[in-house]
Amino acid sequence: MSVSTKVQGNQFISSYKRMWPFIKPFWPIALLSLVVSVPIGALDATIALFLKPYTDTVLVQKEVAASWYIPFLIVSFALVQGILVFVGNYLNIWVGGKLTLSVREKLYSKLLKFPPAYFDKENSGNIIFRYGTDAELACAGLLTNLKNLVTRVCSSIALIGVLFYNSWHLAIMAVIVLIVALAPLASVKRLIKGIIAKNVVSISAINTSYNETFAGNRTITAYNLQKYQEGRFKGHLEAVFDLSIRLVRRTGWLSPFMHFAVSIGLGLAVAMGGWLIVSGTITAGNFVSFLAALLMLYTPLKTLGNTMVSIQQSFLAIERISDLLDVEPKIVDKEDAITLTGVQSRIQFDKVGFSYKEDKKTLSDINLDIRVGETIAIVGNSGGGKSTLVSLLPRFYDVESGSIKIDGVDIRDMTLESLHANISVVFQDNFLFSGSIRENIMLGDENATEEMLDQAVESACLDEFVKSLPLGLDTETGERGVLLSGGQKQRVAIARAFLKNSPILVLDEATSALDNKSEKIVQQAIDNLMKDKTVFVIAHRLSTIKNANRIVVIHEGKHVECGTHAELINIKDGFYKHLYEMQFHTDAKKELSV
Ligand code: ADP
Repeated sequence: MSVSTKVQGNQFISSYKRMWPFIKPFWPIALLSLVVSVPIGALDATIALFLKPYTDTVLVQKEVAASWYIPFLIVSFALVQGILVFVGNYLNIWVGGKLTLSVREKLYSKLLKFPPAYFDKENSGNIIFRYGTDAELACAGLLTNLKNLVTRVCSSIALIGVLFYNSWHLAIMAVIVLIVALAPLASVKRLIKGIIAKNVVSISAINTSYNETFAGNRTITAYNLQKYQEGRFKGHLEAVFDLSIRLVRRTGWLSPFMHFAVSIGLGLAVAMGGWLIVSGTITAGNFVSFLAALLMLYTPLKTLGNTMVSIQQSFLAIERISDLLDVEPKIVDKEDAITLTGVQSRIQFDKVGFSYKEDKKTLSDINLDIRVGETIAIVGNSGGGKSTLVSLLPRFYDVESGSIKIDGVDIRDMTLESLHANISVVFQDNFLFSGSIRENIMLGDENATEEMLDQAVESACLDEFVKSLPLGLDTETGERGVLLSGGQKQRVAIARAFLKNSPILVLDEATSALDNKSEKIVQQAIDNLMKDKTVFVIAHRLSTIKNANRIVVIHEGKHVECGTHAELINIKDGFYKHLYEMQFHTDAKKELSV
């Protein structure tokens, strides 16, 4: 066996090994679909075999009566073969579909476990392709390939048997030609691997384009970006076209080559066959039967090049899926992780350091000690690290050095589920899922009663708005909440946080200006939400700062000042004083003028 054939064999086995956990629940049906393939392949040979007695008795000895059963058997076998093909295909598609389903399920549940750091590095198109399309490519092809292989191998063994039965001289020649014709298949993977990898990137880019067109449609319209988008999209499409042409250039010769090699085999068989008949070594029946078997053996080879390319594509998809299955989320529960059941006394940031990139510290040496029930306002220049600081608490990212503790226990020693259950996060731009307002709020607590829901709606100052809607809480929000205004979206998110009712609240105040009325309503909703909670608020409003127990100033990743408004405003040349004069002074004037 050549080295490359061995490599192919190994790849074949390792791909199936990798997929075994998914095949396992359906193995009896998968096996049945393969078992059915055995007679399908073998029955090919019987037709060729019957041509010998038919030729010798009917054509040569002119005895019609003796061979009446041969056409009958040929038709019967074809009928049986047809039924088996149907059963085989049905089982195959069933198992393939189930496999795709379970691989997609597994990949999706894995995707959900990744922390934000994973999504920072990915793009949506790539996720759709690798988590969705690849599963289809791999699983649908997996069993079809195996079934085709079993059918082909069984058919080939039986047909080669017929060849040897009729003439071993010719059979040896035919097998040698077969090996030569098959040889280039060993290099298919090497020929296509690079192209397929680039194709995945280009198709992902196309997926991302659709996604960006959907999500960014307003920006596209407002900035007349249609031509720009079209240009980028066309670039991706052309890349896919170029790659498909390159694929044909690299592999398109395989099928014609095999066709040619096979023709040589047939030519040699005819030349040698005539000589063997004349010399009396074989009968005419042997020769006709041999030729029929040879044609049946060789015919699939003519297209095997293309088949092999699609087989390799599905194996490459399996390899990519294996890579995904091997990537483990970095932020996971420890084996002996404890369950956080609330905050009793304090939350501490102890010498916390963090960086997104190796060469640049985003946060360093952050020390904070927050008592339960305190409201901490975090202020600082944009890009200083405020959002990063609060995203370490629910472990969107893990600290690089130091630790964050709740009641003295490192948050890395707690289960992620219990940690998240104890923290409500209200972002600046809150994500709403497609569905109704009710469904979006109920995400905070799926078991909430109608009474609790009404209470949350009222506390989030949503009641008036909801009452004004003909469908009330059952009004659809649209994908990403596009049918609601910024302020309404934010209040839905606040109502969701009300239902969740966690003891810790992380709040990123919206910077985008809402009109005065909306701002006041949102502010009221936030104030309600903050009651009796330990709050970390990235503050953009003077009122929030003044109501906070302490203000923490973050500057270029460092904790530079901490205290009340009155304390910090009196530090000469202080960061807060400067910030106040730049950012909050206008708010103060507004307040005075009211
Ligand atoms: P702030 O909230 O104070 O405006 P951030 O915490 O958002 O600041 O950002 C701090 C720094 O980290 C900035 O330089 C920003 O560009 C960078 N940064 C923020 N998020 C990421 C991310 N996901 N990947 C890499 N860098 C990031």
